[in-house]
Amino acid sequence: MKLKRLASAAAAAGLLLSASALASSTRVINRRVEKTDANAAQALRAAGLTAEQVDAVVAALAGTFDWRKARPGDQFRAVLKDGVLVNFDYRQSAADEWQVHREGDRLVGQKRKLEIEKRTEAVELRVESSLYESALASGEDPTIALMLSEVFAWDIDFYQDVRNGDVVRAVVEKELVGGRLLRYGEVLAADYRGQAVGHKRVFRFAPTGGAASYFQEDGDSARRAFLKSPLKFAQVTSGFGARFHPVLRYVKDHNGVDYAAAVGTPVWAIGDGTVVKAGYDGAAGKHVCLRHLNQLETCYLHLSRFGAGVRVGARVQQKQVIAFTGTTGRSTGPHLHFALKRAGRFLNPLKQASPRAEPLTRGQLPRFKQEVERLSELMDGVTVAARH
Ligand SMILES: [Zn+2]
Repeated sequence: MKLKRLASAAAAAGLLLSASALASSTRVINRRVEKTDANAAQALRAAGLTAEQVDAVVAALAGTFDWRKARPGDQFRAVLKDGVLVNFDYRQSAADEWQVHREGDRLVGQKRKLEIEKRTEAVELRVESSLYESALASGEDPTIALMLSEVFAWDIDFYQDVRNGDVVRAVVEKELVGGRLLRYGEVLAADYRGQAVGHKRVFRFAPTGGAASYFQEDGDSARRAFLKSPLKFAQVTSGFGARFHPVLRYVKDHNGVDYAAAVGTPVWAIGDGTVVKAGYDGAAGKHVCLRHLNQLETCYLHLSRFGAGVRVGARVQQKQVIAFTGTTGRSTGPHLHFALKRAGRFLNPLKQASPRAEPLTRGQLPRFKQEVERLSELMDGVTVAARH
């Protein structure tokens, strides 16, 4: 009798146990760090974690994640079982995610290892309203427009020369995570057919023992001593200002070209050189002058500020951002005044043909031609067309 009662009590207890097992609660918290949160720890507290749990998560990721780099928009997810924190994810971007999980009575944290897939793909942009819009329209990230502007910087001024109806094709390396673009690698080949610029076609190639650079189909260099424009293409945002194009004008009596450009447009050195002036005066405003080979000198006027490391005597490289446009000095509106001199005499920069860099040597040509063939097939879709 006594035994029986015990047994049924045990059964009842068992029932109770399994009932409580059924009732065990899993709680999932999904939240973002908001602008109103003083820091990530506060966001975690506001999401319902206890001070102890927050400390445990912070400790688990110590040395792996720098909590000072947490920012509004970061997302986190916490999973609690019966009030015990078992999993925690903190995500800043597709490439930056940290995970914490429970191992017995402690939490262990790590940065999530990503499966990065590398692909080489052909891309085509048809210019309709702006390069930014055309990049979006073809399912690409707008940074591709900036990359292409750098590849063609010796021949195409992406502010002035782009017209509706122009077609740009490229073969570009991509890094993807879960099928989504993480970042672009190098542009391996690019082709521009434009109303104002005609046909330009370049290929990336590393000569034996040399650095990779861009060459035209016949092995001539794509590079020139000077870039086509002193303004670096930097049209990265959509909406207001996305269709803003600097207006260019050569004004004879003041010896330079005026580029109307929004304040803050990056100005780059059109060629390798040495800074010979970096200062301010009443007429030129904030200005920089560079000395190049062959007694050539370029000057950039009415700037808002200088680029990093720009001071008299400093060496600068072609494509280095040396300043940002402004409207300082005698200036009626935001613009860059750009001047070119040879041996102290002003020249019209728009009328100078800048010499190309060295072509490929004969010995490099067979390997280059093979590369051109391979990339052209990808870029022009020849193989695709042949199969259909
Ligand atoms: Zn001017």
